[in-house]
Amino acid sequence: MSKCLDGKYIASLIRQEMAGETAEIAAQGKRPPCLAVIIVGHDGGSEAYVANKVKACAEVGFTSKRLAFEEDITEDLLLKQIAALNNDDSVDGFIVQLPLPRHINEQTVIEAIDYHKDVDGLHPINMGKTVLGLPCLHPATPSGIIELLDRYDIQTEGKHAVVIGRSDIVGKPIANMLLQKTRRGNATVTVCHSRTPNLTEICQTADILIAALGKPLFVKADMVKDGAVVIDVGTTRIADPTRKSGYRLCGDVDYDNVAPKCSYITPVPGGVGPMTIASLLRNTMQAYKRK
Ligand code: NAP
Repeated sequence: MSKCLDGKYIASLIRQEMAGETAEIAAQGKRPPCLAVIIVGHDGGSEAYVANKVKACAEVGFTSKRLAFEEDITEDLLLKQIAALNNDDSVDGFIVQLPLPRHINEQTVIEAIDYHKDVDGLHPINMGKTVLGLPCLHPATPSGIIELLDRYDIQTEGKHAVVIGRSDIVGKPIANMLLQKTRRGNATVTVCHSRTPNLTEICQTADILIAALGKPLFVKADMVKDGAVVIDVGTTRIADPTRKSGYRLCGDVDYDNVAPKCSYITPVPGGVGPMTIASLLRNTMQAYKRK
């Protein structure tokens, strides 16, 4: 029977650690770390994610700033707000909640962020350093996955890790991190995507299977090897009239049928999601300490 990789619990341990460090900072009479979050528009999912990030900051004693703009903000004005945060010494790190409205170029926005303050770890300098195995602010979600593997002492060396998805925020960086010559690296990594013809056969050979494609319940039991470690990054909102909110979060893995075959598996919710927020807090602390 599989063991649950309890991201919610591990994230709570990380928050305790962060709170301890923040208390030490306060005892030295210094200001606490500060995270700013930019949100554009009123997407329900984005607003909920931002609210969780602001709440997590409060729980560990960080201060936070929420800068909300209407959907029709121009790219130029948004870039000016980013420049202001880059120059604001009271802000250690900030994120721009994605996705952005279509008239705004996300890559331009990401590249406008001072990479020292890029606590989502998405700036090309942080991505490049991640690929090179250099110290930097690592991309938050992949770094949360590595931390989860680490806390459960899951060996990656010599294992075949299969990543489904090649996005800039999850697939590419997690594949690279598993490839590094590090304690939770040294894996043999295969990256699959929508043009991969023999996806099922490849997945069947995975010791560690990471699903990051955003297709609910895509990974079925017949795609998973007995004893595999399965990490489900997917979080798709699907309608659920039985819930007060009217929706529930659904992962990319058919959990009920896959879990009995695995050695470890992450639930959705409560797996990778909370670890991403924990990574954001850790990156904010790292950005704070740089000064
Ligand atoms: P994305 O940018 O949409 O990328 C999806 C990737 O999956 C693409 O590389 C795509 O291939 C591939 N893909 C799509 N359909 C496929 C199929 N049928 N077979 C094989 N590959 C397929 O997604 P993302 O931003 O990485 O996010 C993926 C999921 O993770 C989403 O549900 C998102 O909400 C979730 N997420 C969760 C967290 C968290 O903290 N829990 C953080 C980030 C993302 P192509 O490149 O060929 O199009």
